[in-house]
Amino acid sequence: MTSDFEAQLRAVSLRVTRPRLAVLAALRDHPHVDTDTVIDLVRAELSVSHQAIYDVLRALTDAGLVRRIQPAGATARYECRVGDNHHHVVCRTCGAIADVDCAVGYSPCLTASDDHGFVVDEAEVVYWGTCPDCATERTSQSAPSSEGSR
Ligand SMILES: [Zn+2]
Ligand SMILES: [Zn+2]
Repeated sequence: MTSDFEAQLRAVSLRVTRPRLAVLAALRDHPHVDTDTVIDLVRAELSVSHQAIYDVLRALTDAGLVRRIQPAGATARYECRVGDNHHHVVCRTCGAIADVDCAVGYSPCLTASDDHGFVVDEAEVVYWGTCPDCATERTSQSAPSSEGSR
């Protein structure tokens, strides 16, 4: 897998460095994590400064290898699944994020009903809701327990 990342970095003319590989590996294993989590994951493997990791995230995002998503009111998250115009579903309660595929093979969301003359190359859709964990918790809290065991 590491060699995939090396090829990706070379494809966008970025030098292959251990911090860059470590950030890509962290995002592959932990999609949709925020900056602090990326820092923790990378620093568990490698001794690099916080600033170096910020710089790596910016360089990888600018190069299009990493996608930065920022749901309204939430901290920015990063992922290395790029270029497929997928969307996200976000839990209002705990902030959990999951990928939602657009459609296989093409991206119908890119066809705006009225593009106002813009050349559209990306559509960002965020679905807000409640994740299964939080929904379960809410149900079990609101439903009075008949056994009185809680
Ligand atoms: Zn949740
Ligand atoms: Zn995603």
